[in-house]
Amino acid sequence: MTDDLYIRCEDLFKIYKTANLEVVALRGLDLKVASGEFMAIVGASGSGKSTLLNILAGLDTPSAGRCFVGGEDLLTMSSGDMVRYRRKKVGFVWQQTGRNLVPYLDAVQNVEVPLVLDGVPAGEARKRATELLELVLMGHRLNHRPEQLSGGEQQRVSIAVALANRPPLLLADEPTGELDSVGADTVYEVFRTLNRDLGTTIVIVTHDPDIAARVDRVVAIRDGRTSTEVFRRVRFEGNKTEVTHDEYVLVDGAGRLQVPREFLDRLNIHERARVLLGEGRIEVLPDGTPRVSRRDG
Ligand code: ADP
Ligand code: MG
Repeated sequence: MTDDLYIRCEDLFKIYKTANLEVVALRGLDLKVASGEFMAIVGASGSGKSTLLNILAGLDTPSAGRCFVGGEDLLTMSSGDMVRYRRKKVGFVWQQTGRNLVPYLDAVQNVEVPLVLDGVPAGEARKRATELLELVLMGHRLNHRPEQLSGGEQQRVSIAVALANRPPLLLADEPTGELDSVGADTVYEVFRTLNRDLGTTIVIVTHDPDIAARVDRVVAIRDGRTSTEVFRRVRFEGNKTEVTHDEYVLVDGAGRLQVPREFLDRLNIHERARVLLGEGRIEVLPDGTPRVSRRDG
């Protein structure tokens, strides 16, 4: 996975400053995504998911750290380069279907908008729009307007719009948040098809913990930092398919890792612990010394 990285964020910070308040939305986040990967980022509300996705989309700039996407440095990019980046390098799908589509245009026209803006001739734009809509399983609804489509169908058109200019990266912020389970299933099926057939790198953000069954890797984000990672492994044995999920704790560049809260509570570990190197393992033990008590004299 380290060979062909598409996204590399290291020690990334985002601080929002309002009148008399600072909110640290990302605090030293590390993330690597390989070219052609289909992965998700999960986390509770307020954990920094949308902040991260907006940065990757070039819609917002980080406060500090490093962030490279497709070889472009998002911290030093000029505003002109940022506009080109947003137009060519990344497709974005919002949770609110209404934000992705123009209500008075039909499906084909919606997909044509970014193509025409990019100078693609009308006939070619129509052909590409139709092909894309077929790819997202909307070939039978080419001339329906958003209000004539279900939520899931609107999101599939939105995905086609996001991919119109052939971006190598597709970002989706809670794309199934407003859909029923059938609608969500089809949207995920479409993401997987696009990932496989077009080789598009896909990053989905969600608070749905069941996402692990749908993508190849899930990274959990907590308080503005990545904390754990789950890989989905599919094994074929004879005619049986076995799917397992292996969970890992992430170690950052400075060697920090997050020990699960329940482990710490179980061993009554606070503030400090002893770390010992064992045979093929590192052991974390409670600090055996009594709590510091201050004596006079
Ligand atoms: P998530 O998408 O995981 O719910 P967000 O990235 O939207 O989380 O928000 C992370 C934190 O940053 C939250 O505490 C949120 O209130 C804060 N935040 C997000 N956007 C802004 C903003 N534009 N101004 C100030 N604070 C913000
Ligand atoms: Mg969000």
